[in-house]
Amino acid sequence: MDDLSNILLDYSDDELHSMAEEYAKGKKNFTREEELEWASILLLTGTLDEMCTKCSFQAIDGCEVEIDENCPHGYYSPMLILGLV
Ligand SMILES: [Zn+2]
Repeated sequence: MDDLSNILLDYSDDELHSMAEEYAKGKKNFTREEELEWASILLLTGTLDEMCTKCSFQAIDGCEVEIDENCPHGYYSPMLILGLV
């Protein structure tokens, strides 16, 4: 997690946003590693803060999830992935 954050910090905000968009596009199966990278991007771009403010969380596949639950497809809330809940 710490290593991953350091790697992601090398990306610019624009790059992080386009990476997050790539994840949101068309892909159906995500690995746990991809989930962790995606959640870290949300954290670094402030998207996670927005989700907290709205109390509305999304899984990597775009499903709405509770803060500490997974969607019907088995993908977790970013808060859960990052161990923040
Ligand atoms: Zn889902």
